[in-house]
Amino acid sequence: MRVSMQGRTVLVTGGARGIGAGIARAFAGAGANVVIADVGVAEGLKDWTYALAGRDDTERTLASLNDLGGRHCALPLDVTNADACAEAVRETLARYGGLDVLVNNAGVVDSGRIADFSEQAWDRIFAVNVKGLFLMSRAAVGALRASKGSIVITASIAGKQGYPNMSAYCASKFAAIGFTQSLAAELAPDGVRVNAICPGMVGTAMWLDHLLPKRSGVNERDEAGFEAAMAQTIPLGRAQTVDDMGEAALYLATAGNVTGVSLSVAGGFEMS
Ligand code: NAD
Repeated sequence: MRVSMQGRTVLVTGGARGIGAGIARAFAGAGANVVIADVGVAEGLKDWTYALAGRDDTERTLASLNDLGGRHCALPLDVTNADACAEAVRETLARYGGLDVLVNNAGVVDSGRIADFSEQAWDRIFAVNVKGLFLMSRAAVGALRASKGSIVITASIAGKQGYPNMSAYCASKFAAIGFTQSLAAELAPDGVRVNAICPGMVGTAMWLDHLLPKRSGVNERDEAGFEAAMAQTIPLGRAQTVDDMGEAALYLATAGNVTGVSLSVAGGFEMS
């Protein structure tokens, strides 16, 4: 069955590249108007352990959406800033007249042993991965009540299982799943559904520019090495793709009786 999102509006945070871009394309392919909202739409943040999205990523993703038809745009957004979150929702409503799906996807990772981990990195991970969910959901809830829409959160398998040297990231993703369940219960009487995707391993900047180089000590991007390692590790025999996440997001946004779910899309690597 082909799902139609014709005439619906979807806002994807962190949509300039990676998983967010894959999710944005899935919705555009189903006929939705898509807003990609990202720090990369303006100048991009430089103060992180790997480069976040930039204007070139934004332009590439927007062009790929436009190729699919529909009306799409990119808005500058830092999800840690309450005014910016409110403005992104306001601008979406002004351009498209409503909001049907909020995809809270923006996220950052850092890793390392607890003894050496900086307080600044801990705070940033929680500001983006946890507070950002709160600020964007609060900004959008009125519009979502009006449309009986839904929220899809990109959590992680790291929100269901702890991994070594990942305490800040895992704690932030466990929080994302708790937030998903609580908000799903709160908003169910309004007909607004809230679900999460828990990606397994996707070869985006998080893996290729941070986790893999940190583990191997080799600083250049090793996409082939990543894919080969994941083919050995993941029961279904391959790393996940951004399209896998788009498919899952589209399902969760359109499955009318599903709420509070944290759906692992991990090729069998995580099964709960
Ligand atoms: P990515 O770095 O390519 O994408 C993250 C996006 O978020 C970037 O476009 C970045 O510019 C944006 N962003 C960062 N901080 C922001 C902020 N303050 N405000 C707005 N935008 C901001 O990595 P990705 O893998 O595509 O990550 C997307 C989501 O998927 C994240 O929440 C991540 O935790 C989650 N995830 C990724 C994996 C994986 O294997 N790659 C696995 C599980 C979960």
